[in-house]
Amino acid sequence: MESGARQDRVVAGRIFGRIYAPCCRVTFATSRTIASDGGVSEGSGGFTNQGRIIINAETFAPYFWPTILRHEYIHALHQSQFVEQPRWLLEGVAVSLSESPVRSSWTPNRIRSADLADGLRRGGFSITIDWINDAHSHRNEGVSYALSGLVFDYLRFGGIPASEQRIFALMGALSRGGQARQAIESIYGCPIEKLDVDMAKWAFGLPIFSLGPRT
Ligand SMILES: [Zn+2]
Repeated sequence: MESGARQDRVVAGRIFGRIYAPCCRVTFATSRTIASDGGVSEGSGGFTNQGRIIINAETFAPYFWPTILRHEYIHALHQSQFVEQPRWLLEGVAVSLSESPVRSSWTPNRIRSADLADGLRRGGFSITIDWINDAHSHRNEGVSYALSGLVFDYLRFGGIPASEQRIFALMGALSRGGQARQAIESIYGCPIEKLDVDMAKWAFGLPIFSLGPRT
């Protein structure tokens, strides 16, 4: 896990720059202790708050704990640098960096089986930025997590120049109170609908087999 955290710092550091993050206390909680540990939302594997990471050890098998821990650690790094980050940006960056550290872990098959194909055709980027509600929504959020992760895989690996600096700029623009669509269109230099089309083209053209490590 320690080498995983080191790799997260390297991968995340390409976007965040040098990270001055406080130490995080990690707690593995069970249904008996979760309330006193601060709680996690139903069905969620983990929770991050002010330098604390709580993993719900009963939601997922131990095999998934490293990925959940990495996901939560990315949140801790993100929230130590920026404020006012919408849900799609927080989760998209955490899913993308933890599941696709060096190349996209998505394949066309995985996109179909995660129910993302239809959303991509309708405009994956535009749909994603509507995901601004808090963690206690009753909607099934699996598709929102997956789609926002795919958006950030596209922004990182889709051939966009200065991709990491642009993501950093986007975080900064929203941190200063900017409006999402406006910030995206000015940072990426095109209407969001063009990003929708380009992302779908990139996603459906991904290699059939992912060479990326799934960690
Ligand atoms: Zn998360």
